[in-house]
Amino acid sequence: MLSKLVLSGDVLEEPDAEDARTKKLSLTDPDARSMATSGKGTGIVGYNVQIAVDAEHHLVVAHEVTNVGADRSQLAAMGGKARDATGCEEVTVLADRGYYNGEEVLACEGKGVLPYVPKTQTSGNAKRGLFTVQDFIYDAENDRYACPAGEFLTKGKIRSDRRDDMDHYRNLTACLTCGLKPQCTTDKVKRQKRWEHEAVLDRMQARLDRMPEAMIIRRQTVEHPFGTLKAWMGSTHFLTKTLEKVKTEMSLHVLAYNMKRMINIFGVKPLMQAIAG
Ligand code: SF4
Repeated sequence: MLSKLVLSGDVLEEPDAEDARTKKLSLTDPDARSMATSGKGTGIVGYNVQIAVDAEHHLVVAHEVTNVGADRSQLAAMGGKARDATGCEEVTVLADRGYYNGEEVLACEGKGVLPYVPKTQTSGNAKRGLFTVQDFIYDAENDRYACPAGEFLTKGKIRSDRRDDMDHYRNLTACLTCGLKPQCTTDKVKRQKRWEHEAVLDRMQARLDRMPEAMIIRRQTVEHPFGTLKAWMGSTHFLTKTLEKVKTEMSLHVLAYNMKRMINIFGVKPLMQAIAG
């Protein structure tokens, strides 16, 4: 039974989009959008193709085409689609940092989708030479944080000013006389924020800690199908225009990929027999 899956998204270009790159839209396809890519100034106009690949046989278990430029909102939907396609009660889904989104991880809870997504480092504290969130250890039993000085930060009564789902933990006395304060905060006292559903992220991090090879498996698994599909599709990738047609085109590519893969795994004769049987 397939249960370990790798989720990945890649940007595939629309034909004629090159002319329109600077305007970030396609002049010929009203549904194509500018997609975020890793290189600065290299945005591609096209579609975001999501695939969930089984880590053992490299078969594409589920796929989707969207014109949403980032992967942040894809985890729960794609995880659920892959779970349904495999028929497994629970699937393990390995994905890169681009999928890190607390709300999406929360949406997977109790739905048979177990995500493994490394945390995105958004805090500028490390660059400024200050302690980062990893330096504050959460103690769930006592609902408090242990700080690098060995003091405890406890939950304040008032939540964040802007988000009412964030608690603040602080120590109103220890910080005032702490020798480590220059490395800790530029404020009067350190305030450690915690999302009300942070426990789901803590559980995911614990799973990642227990599977240190997760991101190596992820990399090794997605290169094969995306590399093969893109090579087949040629440099401009899609031949059709508009989202619905591009979805159909992609489905045919995935079907062809899976059939070739199955032939490689089983051989033609046994596969024909299995299909007939
Ligand atoms: S400044 Fe406060 S939170 Fe930071 S290390 Fe010192 S006591 Fe702990």
